[in-house]
Amino acid sequence: MNFFDTRFLTLVTSLLLATFHSSLAALPQLFIAEGTSVQEPQEQLEQAFKDAITLARVTASLFDACEPAYTRYFRAIDAVFVKDVFRTIANIPLGPNIDANNIINILSDASVYELQPKFDKLEIALGNNPSVPLSKQACGKTFDGGTAFAYSYIDPAALGPVALISLCDDTFLFPTLDQIENPPSDKKDAQGNPLLGFTCDGLGDHDTDWMTSPGGIMLHEMMHWTYLLEDVPNYDDIIDENDDGFPQIADFGGPDPPDG
Ligand SMILES: [Zn+2]
Repeated sequence: MNFFDTRFLTLVTSLLLATFHSSLAALPQLFIAEGTSVQEPQEQLEQAFKDAITLARVTASLFDACEPAYTRYFRAIDAVFVKDVFRTIANIPLGPNIDANNIINILSDASVYELQPKFDKLEIALGNNPSVPLSKQACGKTFDGGTAFAYSYIDPAALGPVALISLCDDTFLFPTLDQIENPPSDKKDAQGNPLLGFTCDGLGDHDTDWMTSPGGIMLHEMMHWTYLLEDVPNYDDIIDENDDGFPQIADFGGPDPPDG
């Protein structure tokens, strides 16, 4: 078996898609804010979470520190740490290298389907989570001429390990992973070709909004959650303290890489 065998690839793909034993899985609490303009908000929020887990599984399983997308933003010396971050979110053991010989066994492991146990301390809201202090609620507000897509509220002193992640309505203007892979008819031109941003064609070699999805934004917000990642080896050494005095992965401050 190798990665290019079609049946093997189909099996791997099905294992990467975020399915889980809902009776066993540590699931986050979901909350829908009043007055949302998002259609079917509960389903969309659940899908954003599932897509975030799928993205983490794919990145953890196919991780390659020599890939151009990796080298644009990360240092080679941090490769093991970055890989371990994605594995932690996907609840894949940190130890063995993943290759064609063991990927089926690793992705089939019960732990992957039961999800990261720390998710029982995660609350995801579509719109502002009402537990976030009013002055910190960012959905619907304008910053530097733009509106917030999402934000995380992490306050170990007041909330302990709990993370309050809010995905604002505009996040759901982006397509789900399934819509990107299988574009609906209104996302195709007259010849039936997918519009830019759908399927993997024509994306170019620079990072753009065409590559964004609600799941990707959800996964980004999880990176700010100290409790989720603090047990990743070398977290305290690699991640700086924020202004509030605890280590936290910060937003990328630029400058944008010339090739990204
Ligand atoms: Zn951020």
